[in-house]
Amino acid sequence: MIREAFVEYYSKPRPAYKGSGKMNCSSFGRCIRSVMLGLTGAPCGEFPVHVREVMDLGVAYENVAETILRAKFGDALQTQIPLRNAMWSGKLDFLIVGKIEQPTIVEWKSTGNNFFDYDGKYPEFSHSCQAWLYGKLYQELHHVAPRVILFYHSWGKHAEFLLRDPINMPVGSAVGEVNDKVVERYVPLEKLPERRKMFESAYAALPEIPEVPCTKPCDAYGCTFRGERSCGFYEQCWDKKE
Ligand code: SF4
Repeated sequence: MIREAFVEYYSKPRPAYKGSGKMNCSSFGRCIRSVMLGLTGAPCGEFPVHVREVMDLGVAYENVAETILRAKFGDALQTQIPLRNAMWSGKLDFLIVGKIEQPTIVEWKSTGNNFFDYDGKYPEFSHSCQAWLYGKLYQELHHVAPRVILFYHSWGKHAEFLLRDPINMPVGSAVGEVNDKVVERYVPLEKLPERRKMFESAYAALPEIPEVPCTKPCDAYGCTFRGERSCGFYEQCWDKKE
């Protein structure tokens, strides 16, 4: 009975998303074609029920996180801080601004227990892209370089990474800990300035849409996830060609 209520709730179509008309920072790690299709209002499939459930649970976890961080940082903690310029739009989950300390952006990712940091996958590429871009936009708007932290949290597990800026490091990396074990992971931060240019050029060229970036549907770009179609624009890229 209770499960039915969940399924009914999440099966209802959502009201159409009214975007800002700008690129969303959280999309910076996605397939460029999908981002541009979204901006032109191309028809997009709905997320499956289980994905929508997880998204809502992530928001609920964030409220708990705010209570915990507020207890430690008090008024130095700010939440849902907008970051915008002519092309990008985003909201910081958390910003800690002390009187002396470097401002610190915290991007919070709630996730399930299964496959937590499976195969050392954290920090994930798309999350690193988003967090890196937040750091850059913050620096451009406020003229101070922030620290950027990615924090993963699930039931009883955690991973925390500080992104190292490739301006100072020849190769991108993130240092931190996973369940209290110190780690250093490679993330391709050094490639992100070029990626940003590519996105901004594509945005300037709208309504022209970039070509499909792969020769067949693949997990790497997000067309599929473990072989199942997962991109809302799948039909726009493949069904007509198959
Ligand atoms: S189906 Fe694949 S190529 Fe097409 S927009 Fe989605 S992710 Fe990009």
